[in-house]
Amino acid sequence: MNEFNKNNASKKMIAQSKSNIENIIFEIIFMYIKDMVFIMKAEKDNTFRYIFVNEAAFLFSQLPIDFIGKGFQDVSSKKIADRLQQEYTIVCETKKNHIYTDQILTDNGDIIYAESVLTPIIDEQNEVKYIVSITRDITESIKEKRLLHESEQKYRSLVQNNLDAVFTVSLDGVIQEVNPTGLKLIDFSDVKLPLFSLYELIDEGNTLFYDSFRKCKLTETSQSLDCKLKSKNGKKLSIHTKFVPIKVNDTIRGIYVILRDISERAETAEKIRYMSFHDQLTGLYNRRALVEDLNLEIKKAETEKVTFALMTIDLDRFKYINDTFGHIVGDQILIKVAERLLEFKNHKCHVYRQGGDEFNILLSNTNRQETASLVQRIISSFANSFYLNSHEYYISPSIGISMYPYDGDDMEKIIKNADEALFRVKERGKAHYQFYRSDMTSNLTNVVSLETKLRKAVQKNELKLYYQPQIDLKSHTFNSFEALLRWESPSLGLVAPNDFIPLAEDTGLIISIGNWVIEKACEQINTWKTLYHKDVRIAVNISPKQFQQPNFVEMIRYSIQKFNIKPSLLEIEITEGVMENIKEAIPILRKLKDLGVIISVDDFGTGYSSLSYIKQFPIDVLKIDQSFVKDVVTNAKDAAITTTIIHLGQNLGIEVIAEGVETKEQEDFLKEANCQKAQGFYYSRPLTCEEAEQFLKDF
Ligand code: C2E
Ligand code: MG
Ligand code: MG
Repeated sequence: MNEFNKNNASKKMIAQSKSNIENIIFEIIFMYIKDMVFIMKAEKDNTFRYIFVNEAAFLFSQLPIDFIGKGFQDVSSKKIADRLQQEYTIVCETKKNHIYTDQILTDNGDIIYAESVLTPIIDEQNEVKYIVSITRDITESIKEKRLLHESEQKYRSLVQNNLDAVFTVSLDGVIQEVNPTGLKLIDFSDVKLPLFSLYELIDEGNTLFYDSFRKCKLTETSQSLDCKLKSKNGKKLSIHTKFVPIKVNDTIRGIYVILRDISERAETAEKIRYMSFHDQLTGLYNRRALVEDLNLEIKKAETEKVTFALMTIDLDRFKYINDTFGHIVGDQILIKVAERLLEFKNHKCHVYRQGGDEFNILLSNTNRQETASLVQRIISSFANSFYLNSHEYYISPSIGISMYPYDGDDMEKIIKNADEALFRVKERGKAHYQFYRSDMTSNLTNVVSLETKLRKAVQKNELKLYYQPQIDLKSHTFNSFEALLRWESPSLGLVAPNDFIPLAEDTGLIISIGNWVIEKACEQINTWKTLYHKDVRIAVNISPKQFQQPNFVEMIRYSIQKFNIKPSLLEIEITEGVMENIKEAIPILRKLKDLGVIISVDDFGTGYSSLSYIKQFPIDVLKIDQSFVKDVVTNAKDAAITTTIIHLGQNLGIEVIAEGVETKEQEDFLKEANCQKAQGFYYSRPLTCEEAEQFLKDF
């Protein structure tokens, strides 16, 4: 008979005295419960005697067959008995459940963990009568716990030792945990969690960041993006961010926000970007940047319906400097040239270096006049030498200009045509500038022939002055004309000044033509004085190039004396562009003033209108540009500008002439506004000399 059967026999003995249902319960506990059940009788002196063990307990604890009624010391080794005595005594003393765990080494060397729950059975006198011990093999659950603990530690180690900053964030954005890298990154070493929210880390305005956070929360999928983060010391960091949903039992509980500082990488990328758009030698934007900017500029100009200019600047004889003084000096000079060009840089003027000795300037939202005046300033800025290693180097630039949209509506054409214009400058002897003209590319002979024709026109007397009367609005009299140039070409017909003056300016012919105009006007004043005994004032238009001629004032003095006229009958019309260079313009204007001629500002309001020059320059007349007069009756802004100019003139004692008056309504407006004089088709078109004489007689 084995141990089990012996115990089975004793079970049957006990069972005989039980009722049927109790028998069943007993049998279940005895045979089928897999936990070990021990029932001990507790005696007053804390001795405990076995009164029942089930099958599992019997087998496991290897009790002798006659264990019933025996104490721990009777059936177990001293070590085990003492342990049991100690645990059971606790129950007797506390009269409460008590749990303890045993580690048991089995015969085959495995360790088994057993957990015992001791429950006291207490009688009416509050004495512990019995103690029931349910002992369970918890080896598996201990192993599981250990595995869980291990994986928890692995996870911890992944987070704690991660080189990325890991923030454990609740779904409402409160930071629950931060790993050491995270603390270092945000410099919140004294942080107490959970305490601060993501909003303290990332600007609230960073909508992309919060959008990704929300997307992760809603879709429960990982998201990533690059963004900026502010650390506690105010430093802005470039951060690559990942949002990883924390899912427990298929439910999102929070989000890991994993941040990687990519500031260094971003800086490198920025450096690479900088290098790819800048010229290494001078630090100016390079050709690539020019191409990009030009494309943007074209789009902008297209929508805003404005014009811009591209200049290609080439240094004259730079090869000679390189060859003679070496490349190191050459490079130093290029740097100095870049610095000089940068003096012209502003919000609408950008400087580039294409390579070699070629530079570009992009001038936004401009017109020919403004462009020409800037180019002149650039060329004059090169009049000063470049100083290097106690040597002076003189360098002149040649500049070709193309205008959008007239000279090309795409980037390539604009660059090509500026180059084309530059080529013409070089051909003609450098140190100069030239606007692109369509006939340059299409038919060079055409330009050359036009130029040749214009040169001959002066000698062949094909240039004529037309005269447009200027009416005094108060007295309705008139005593002045504006002289407007016409070219009566036998082959081309009547050519308007706008069609040949730019060419004359480009070629330098404007000087002789301009001188001719001045002489002719003085002669006419003299003729009319002699014929009609009338003092008729004539205004002549002066091109900026002509104005800058060193002998300009002398030339005028000469003409006045030659025709013996009152200097105040000659009026010099200059544009605002001429006055931009105050230093140069003031002495010339003063000399003219000393001569006694009248000085007027043409097309007033369209150029660099600055009130300061009106104060500084000795100006007698302001001519309101016809673009303002055109819509003066219908456009409130034009009306306001016109009245303002008239008031300004009145307050400063300057005569005001409105140009381009074509209707009675415009005249009425100007009269109402107290404008002194008017000029325009309403009174008369520009007249030939004979027609003007008729007008003089009739008026
Ligand atoms: P500007 O000095 O502003 O001359 C006025 C222009 O407006 C003239 O054009 C004139 O014919 C035109 N005009 C006059 N009244 C009216 C009007 O009621 N309605 C309209 N729509 N236009 C009117 P023009 O003669 O074709 O001259 C154009 C420009 O050429 C002049 O503008 C001036 O800047 C320049 N110019 C003319 N003669 C000379 C000259 O001898 N030397 C220089 N350097 N430039 C000249
Ligand atoms: Mg004029
Ligand atoms: Mg004008």
